[in-house]
Amino acid sequence: MKLVFHGAAKEVGRSCIELQTQGDRYLLDAGIKFKEGGFAYPEKIVNLPDVDGLLISHAHLDHTGALPFFEHYKIICPIYCTKLTYVITKVLLKDSYKIARIRNLHPAYNKTDLHEVEKDVRFVKYDREYKHRKIKFTFRNAGHVPGSAMILVEAEGKKILYTGDTKLRTTELVKGAFTDYKDIDVLIIESTYGVRELPDRNELRKKFLDKIEEVINKGGSVLIPVFSLGRSQDILIMLAQRKFKVPIYFDGMCKKITNRILGVNDPYVNNRKILEEMFNKKVIHIGSEKHRRHALSQQGIYVTTSGMMQGGPVLSYLNEMWHDPKHAILLMGFQCKRTNGRHLIEEGYVYLNGWRTYVKCSVEKFDFSGHADKEDLKEIIRRINPKKLVIQHGDSEAVEQLRSWAEKENKYVVYAPEIGEEIEV
Ligand SMILES: [Zn+2]
Repeated sequence: MKLVFHGAAKEVGRSCIELQTQGDRYLLDAGIKFKEGGFAYPEKIVNLPDVDGLLISHAHLDHTGALPFFEHYKIICPIYCTKLTYVITKVLLKDSYKIARIRNLHPAYNKTDLHEVEKDVRFVKYDREYKHRKIKFTFRNAGHVPGSAMILVEAEGKKILYTGDTKLRTTELVKGAFTDYKDIDVLIIESTYGVRELPDRNELRKKFLDKIEEVINKGGSVLIPVFSLGRSQDILIMLAQRKFKVPIYFDGMCKKITNRILGVNDPYVNNRKILEEMFNKKVIHIGSEKHRRHALSQQGIYVTTSGMMQGGPVLSYLNEMWHDPKHAILLMGFQCKRTNGRHLIEEGYVYLNGWRTYVKCSVEKFDFSGHADKEDLKEIIRRINPKKLVIQHGDSEAVEQLRSWAEKENKYVVYAPEIGEEIEV
């Protein structure tokens, strides 16, 4: 039996790991990676129609974005995932196709392929063992985003555990990852935050809410650019902790995603009642540019997509707010290179309507990440205690740091694969 890495090998993006058993082939995740002018798909996969099953860890496009691309190349097999993962994936795939068309990014598939995905999807419940041909598999809570799962596969007498993206600690929105596994032969672990330590979340949350209050009390408004899945719901749950004297507006894709999360009864979604109350009763939903203009004419807290300020309604808010020092922009989580969010944090400017614009309002970043940090990744490895450890889904520095720690532990055979590399199990 062997593993072949088609993506997310010393990089973040296009997760896709092939498990080859005697006679059968399975893929763990089908992601894309965003690059200048388009998408990068998993590499070096031959004969897609011969794949026997696809197991999907969670809805983010770097784990699902290649599904319609695979359909285009006539993959004929069931796609297993949790119900919540699928309903969110459906929204994200449709939106990414729309944006790709608008920006002339030429996705390598068409609208029919998008619809084909649905026909192959099979829902799995958490914590239940399923059989497909000669393998058995179980989805366990990964703690990363609603619907996310670690996938345990048993084949040829071996146990392989794939973390997908994971977070050990419970967050506002999702309960912490399940880590009570026995006799794992191979652990394939993500390492996005392999070099970073996250601040204490309770302290960070207090700092964040204090900052909002301070800005509001001085007569300013607060813009919170959010990622549609995870962070936007975390923020709503956090905002429910205080009474603000100005309205909270909710705008963009995060509305649709929150609606989907509330529509599925997922056992690992945390604070569902608070989220429901905020979403249905407390926030004001923005539905049009006219409505947005009206909201901007008064003081408010604006929670809107996109999280890195590359597109979406956040740009309309930015357009009206950038020049006034009494306002604040509070960024959440990781900002990729060459995005407005990164430019703003590092150099104080954003691109607005094609112009480099130096922002005059106050800017702060609060890292409410959905990933396990460096110390928690080590804790996950210690708890699971595998015979072989495969480190992926991190940039080279993160992968190498975690690898060097794991090798010093002297308990595991450690791998840090390159794209196309094969590991014998
Ligand atoms: Zn993810």
